[in-house]
Amino acid sequence: MRNYNFVLSSFCVMVLLIMFYSRRKHLPTWRNRFYLLLFIVHAITMPLNVSIAYVNDHYQHFGILFLYILCIVYSTLYELRAFLFYCFSATFAPKHKSRNLVMFGVLLFSYLYILGNLFIEGLYHAQASEMTILNTSRDFRYFCGIFYGFSAALLVATTKNMESTERMSLVFANLIVAVGTILRLMVRSILFIDLLYTLSLVVIYFGVQSPDYYINGKTGLFNIRGIRTYIQEQYKNHVSLNMIMISIENYVGMKQLVGNKKMKKLLQIIATKIDHQYRKEVCGYIGSGRFLIISPSPLDFQEANTYFRDLFSKPLEGESSNFLSFYLSYIDQSIQINDLRELEEVIHQATAQTQYLDTDARVVVTNDDVKIYHHRLQIEDATNRAVENDAIQVYYQPIYNTKKHRVSGCEALSRLIDDELGFISPEEFIHAAEHLGIIDRLGFQIIHKVCRFIKKHDVKALGIDYINVNVSPLQCLDEQFPEKFFKILDSYGIDHGLIHVEITESTFVDVELLEQMMQKMSAKGIVFALDDFGTGYSNLTRIIKYPFDIIKIDLSLTWSYFKGENEFLPYIIKLISEVGKDVTVEGVETKEMAESLSSMHVQHLQGYYYSKPIDENQFVNYLQRT
Ligand code: C2E
Ligand code: CA
Ligand code: CA
Repeated sequence: MRNYNFVLSSFCVMVLLIMFYSRRKHLPTWRNRFYLLLFIVHAITMPLNVSIAYVNDHYQHFGILFLYILCIVYSTLYELRAFLFYCFSATFAPKHKSRNLVMFGVLLFSYLYILGNLFIEGLYHAQASEMTILNTSRDFRYFCGIFYGFSAALLVATTKNMESTERMSLVFANLIVAVGTILRLMVRSILFIDLLYTLSLVVIYFGVQSPDYYINGKTGLFNIRGIRTYIQEQYKNHVSLNMIMISIENYVGMKQLVGNKKMKKLLQIIATKIDHQYRKEVCGYIGSGRFLIISPSPLDFQEANTYFRDLFSKPLEGESSNFLSFYLSYIDQSIQINDLRELEEVIHQATAQTQYLDTDARVVVTNDDVKIYHHRLQIEDATNRAVENDAIQVYYQPIYNTKKHRVSGCEALSRLIDDELGFISPEEFIHAAEHLGIIDRLGFQIIHKVCRFIKKHDVKALGIDYINVNVSPLQCLDEQFPEKFFKILDSYGIDHGLIHVEITESTFVDVELLEQMMQKMSAKGIVFALDDFGTGYSNLTRIIKYPFDIIKIDLSLTWSYFKGENEFLPYIIKLISEVGKDVTVEGVETKEMAESLSSMHVQHLQGYYYSKPIDENQFVNYLQRT
């Protein structure tokens, strides 16, 4: 007598899950379609499995034709289930047409095999005297083994960059089925393969497939994760997409003004309208007051414009007056976007752009925009590679001391020459490193190299009193920065006074943190220079407030003075000197500039007149020559 308890319980679980799953909102992706199909086929296979077992035990009571049909239907579905499992897994891997074809071929072959058994009697055979289905049914399980094996291999090989919980649940689900299949071949009296199968689908459900993971709780629309999953699949299948982004103007400010609760309600109202108006499209809320409508077929931008203008001009439901305004951005399917990352950059930039527009204006993303984003991403990749390989070089630019009448210091400047892109300007890759969050690694690599340089050459004997290194204000966010910094210096046994730190004033982040850090480091002998003084963010109180010893005048200010566009450079220099700080003027390109600045009592001069930034050996030669 067989034990059917497992099948019955898992059947109930399946029915409940199917009911629950199919009533929720889904992304129109193949992944979801395969998953739902898998559910359904599994749910049908289960009672069939029970029937087969029962019929096998009581075959005498059934007609031969019936037995054959039952066997064929059962084994066909059994194979189909395994095939769908493969199809589902394949949606996580890059597209591979021939692999899919081979798998489909295996399915077809297994079907031929099943039908062929009508004549050959290998897989099952039914006779009036005896019916054996399961005894000889090992062969067709081997076909299933191919599907499961491929699924497992695919998942292990291609899901490396997935979230670990997602990856774990997929691999685990595969493992359960594999173990189940092996056990099934060993123990035949208990029908538990279906239970394990159900378990596997449940694991997948909670790991990756639950519709709730893809829905934004605030609005009921798809969330970023959902949108990402959808777009990723479309791009993988070379489907181009049309998109409209609706951004609420000054969302952060508005939220503060009306409060979280009310803003949430407003978002809900807008979401309901969007969902209603764009029923066939994929609608998402991607945070910060931004809604996205996506469709493979063209979207009428003009119509959207009219619709949203109309929507936002009337008071939203339950409100006495309307105070929200919006921007539209439009991405046409002719825009060549290669991958999700690029699209996210495009959306990010489109959002940034709308902030500078008049209300109700729109941004139409063009291919030229995308080229710029594409370039930016290439730079990011190159920067990543360079930091990964510690391949960023350090060049040195001399700094001339007007009192000592000689070069007494230098600035260390990063250089990146990429195999693919060639020379990349430091402005670009430093910005990329900041954006990627690897600026601290880059910064420490530079400090290591500067220390190695100092160790290798007797720089003091060459007349060098200090070397300036640039530190991004973002690096100061790390509270451990000073410890890490000194650890490097001390490991090379380098005198702290030899290193000056330049910090750009334009991007001061957390002012308090910065101040703490500077105090800590000043106490241990580090000299600070305020970089780029005279660009946008100039603030004289900062000069006084922070423990900067040196102020570096930006070359734009220098040049505008020498071009006669401003007259206040001498006053600034005087003012800084009066508060007891040294001045370094950048961008000194001619003898006249150098002489004029010396007469203003500027202590340090830096610029092409003395030298461009040069590599280590050239710099040592330069010092020996002068
Ligand atoms: P910065 O710190 O203001 O560096 C001075 C820049 O002015 C350097 O550009 C230098 O080559 C250039 N320069 C100096 N004198 C002259 C001159 O007379 N004429 C002209 N036309 N240019 C002159 P560079 O090397 O391209 O660096 C650009 C910026 O990238 C730097 O500006 C700095 O903000 C950043 N940077 C470079 N290396 C690093 C680094 O290791 N870490 C960080 N955080 N930033 C770095
Ligand atoms: Ca600098
Ligand atoms: Ca500078």
